[in-house]
Amino acid sequence: MFYQDTIAAIATSSKDGSISVIRVSGTQSYEIVSGIFYNKNMRSIDLSACETHTIQYGYICRDQGTILDEVLVLVMKGPRSYTAEDVAEIQCHGGYMVCQTILELLMEKGARIAEPGEFTKRAFLNGRIDLSQAESVMDLIQAKSDIAIKNSISQLRGSVKRKIVQLREMLLEDIAFLEAALDDPEHISLEEFPLRMREHTLYLKNELEHLLQNSQNGQLIKEGIKTAIIGKPNVGKSSFLNCILRSERAIVTDIPGTTRDTLEEEVRIGSTLFRFIDTAGIRETEDTIENIGIEKAKKEMKQADLVICIIDSGSELQEEDLYVLRQAEECPGVILYNKVDLPTVTDISMIPSYDNKKIISFSAVTGEGLDELEHYINELFIENKIHYNDEIYITNARQKESLADALESIGQLWNSIEMEMPEDLYSIDMINAYESLGKIIGETVEDDIIDKIFKDFCMGK
Ligand code: GDP
Repeated sequence: MFYQDTIAAIATSSKDGSISVIRVSGTQSYEIVSGIFYNKNMRSIDLSACETHTIQYGYICRDQGTILDEVLVLVMKGPRSYTAEDVAEIQCHGGYMVCQTILELLMEKGARIAEPGEFTKRAFLNGRIDLSQAESVMDLIQAKSDIAIKNSISQLRGSVKRKIVQLREMLLEDIAFLEAALDDPEHISLEEFPLRMREHTLYLKNELEHLLQNSQNGQLIKEGIKTAIIGKPNVGKSSFLNCILRSERAIVTDIPGTTRDTLEEEVRIGSTLFRFIDTAGIRETEDTIENIGIEKAKKEMKQADLVICIIDSGSELQEEDLYVLRQAEECPGVILYNKVDLPTVTDISMIPSYDNKKIISFSAVTGEGLDELEHYINELFIENKIHYNDEIYITNARQKESLADALESIGQLWNSIEMEMPEDLYSIDMINAYESLGKIIGETVEDDIIDKIFKDFCMGK
């Protein structure tokens, strides 16, 4: 399905740069751009006559003779283009005014401004990419770590699509066979079918469970490892955050209990993104506002992927410290024996290491122990928790939900098989699983959901 209207937008960042790209896509792209594009002899350049995937040099002119900018125009004819339509990309000089004026000229010639994500939406609707690939474009733009980039590229190249298509094909074959056999029992026997279904369902169940399990890691890759910084008041939580950020963004004060809410900062360590959350000091208190902060801190800790428990080496180990350590017992993490630049009071060997948490001597003031900590948490996650390899990591919440729905239907199908239910009961769960998987690649998604997905894209993409 090709659209009649031709769309245009500035595809590069809105800040001034040395060049900007204006993307034009649609059936009239070449006619429209040719209307404002001239060679050095002021002759109009007919882009439709140019070879595809070539670069043309010339001038954008307001009217024949008034040069607005010296540009390069890339010609990419459909279907070998981003949108699968005829595309022209004008590389002009970066200024805002130049870009806006070129865009206005394109409008005068018959283009209309593209909506956010409309180029990618056209690529999807024209069948060049599936929905999982379209969503990975957005992930790639927003990627904040090397692993996140690697994952988005793999999705963009169709890793999710290929896997989902394979699983759906398997289901479709069985659905078709079952329906045919139920319609024509005289000629098609279902004798072997339960055995085959058993094998296939078990395979699908394992594959879906594996994908879903990986998607937990996928979430960590995309959004960062949620790391709660906990400890009783005044042990140095805010100072630690400043230290790891190497800046002074967290409020540091020596009055106990001043971090009343949580503060969140992203830090990239090695190839991984960590989201550090400075929580309120956990302790017993009568202060209502502080109590709200403490409750929030406990909640953050429960949802954290990693905890950094801080103990003040300069004061006696108190019941409050042990309370903090006990609270963090179930979460992987590390204990920082902080303020070692000052004379120590608590002996490091006195700290109980619940759940074998590593204890690191640390100073948020001098940065002692920082390298050891960064190395340790990176290894902890990369080597033990994030088994990142060439597997498929579904990171998108919408896709994950459809995956879970498909697994639920397959689970029900498995129960029916186990309970030796009649075969005609199988098909409803098989069809449901087939449709849920279809949502991931966009084959069974309603138009309003598609609109919603692309609305979140940036202009020009
Ligand atoms: P929080 O309540 O746990 O967030 O603690 P803060 O980060 O606000 O620190 C409380 C006090 O301890 C401040 O005066 C900090 O300057 C001080 N402090 C924190 N870490 C260190 C450290 O490693 N060495 C020294 N000497 N002082 C520290």
